[in-house]
Amino acid sequence: MKVVMIGTGYVGLVSGTCFAEFGADVVCVDVDEKKVERLKNGEIPIYEPGLEDLVAKNVREGRLSFTTKLGEVAGSADLVFIAVGTPSRRGDGFADLSYVYEAARQVAPHLQGYTVIVDKSTVPVGTARNVSRLIRETNPQADFDVASNPEFLREGAAISDFMRPDRVVIGVDSPRAEKLLRELYRPLNLIEAPILATGLESAELIKYASNAFLATKISFINEISMLCESVGADVHAVAKGMGMDKRIGSKFLHAGPGYGGSCFPKDTQALVRIAQEHGVSSRIVESVIEVNAAQKARMIKKIREALGGSEAGKRIGVLGLTFKPETDDMRDAPALSILPPLIEKGARILAHDPQGVHEAKSMLPAEVEYTEDIYRVFDGVDAVVLMTEWNVYRGLDLARAGKAMREKVFIDLRNVYEKESMVAHGYRYVCVGR
Ligand code: NAD
Repeated sequence: MKVVMIGTGYVGLVSGTCFAEFGADVVCVDVDEKKVERLKNGEIPIYEPGLEDLVAKNVREGRLSFTTKLGEVAGSADLVFIAVGTPSRRGDGFADLSYVYEAARQVAPHLQGYTVIVDKSTVPVGTARNVSRLIRETNPQADFDVASNPEFLREGAAISDFMRPDRVVIGVDSPRAEKLLRELYRPLNLIEAPILATGLESAELIKYASNAFLATKISFINEISMLCESVGADVHAVAKGMGMDKRIGSKFLHAGPGYGGSCFPKDTQALVRIAQEHGVSSRIVESVIEVNAAQKARMIKKIREALGGSEAGKRIGVLGLTFKPETDDMRDAPALSILPPLIEKGARILAHDPQGVHEAKSMLPAEVEYTEDIYRVFDGVDAVVLMTEWNVYRGLDLARAGKAMREKVFIDLRNVYEKESMVAHGYRYVCVGR
């Protein structure tokens, strides 16, 4: 089976590589010449555990290649996936579909024989039908169907998520397209991964509804964490007790600095806009967004209070910048909302991140200093903020770290450490909801 993947970012590169691993012939296409050049040279442009080896293996075995020239490869494809970005449109929060529609326009003239065009990008309801219309207008002779196959992988665990998904959602209105997609995903039958075939609109909405629901769980526990702080409860215990109920489940009930990343912020916004466009209320998701923004603001206040009421002239060490561990993705990371206001008020920041520094440098104020040495972050600082729960921050030598600090204040926004042991090490320990 021949697959063309348009867009070779976090989703396109992982999906394309995994389809090749399933046995398909895959060409990943991108407009970014530098990215394609790096991939051709065996360099992986993103940090994703296990990806480098899997790409190398599939390239070596002749099933995976990279190009900028869509026109040269589209004609022979059975399936063309669109996996380009759908960021929030500046100013109004609608999903920006210009990259998706551009990809559809670009591929249309090159289609030969029956081809299924598959939206893998997260796109608002109605997009698949618009893509279909665009292709029909551009190439009235084309023999094609459009399908929706939203992606649920998590950065940091993308390969295992793709290879062992909870479910694969296929939105189709043509049995022929469904058959081809089921054929492509057939290797997953071995592990009995459920494949859910729905209509186009349902598939498109499943992705937004799923992300909005997960974001809701996070905002919910963050709101409860605030109540915990006021009443003297421990949010860990509360979340654990809630999560033991199988109807609730323990996942996504970790209090922290608020959700971030390349999906939840933009997808919750987009869902609200989709609802508005259709004259339907989405009060829960609107509140989720509000609570998340408030949580980030609350973290700034927490840090300020831990510094004695003002951050002016204070040195703050920061452990972790990416929105979660095991990725270099800085899109909408909480650090981007929390650190700039502190810097504006005169704080000086020295930060460490195992993979995110390169990205962070272009997104955080120029005043931020970076180090590759975790313990340098503690050197002469007035407080350390643990922002992202990378494993390397879980087993810190607390005695060594504390000795280097000017003030032993540890602000743990991910609740990684236990208060008793921090206090025993002489720290003033501030965390979330405990
Ligand atoms: P990304 O920004 O990492 O990658 C998008 C790529 O598409 C870029 O390399 C860009 O150069 C390329 N591109 C844009 N227009 C193109 C065109 N016309 N032809 C060829 N290439 C083009 O984005 P991503 O994080 O991979 O996300 C892609 C989509 O998948 C989004 O809709 C996102 O919401 C969704 N998604 C992302 C994740 C995630 O964890 N990142 C998970 C599930 C779904």
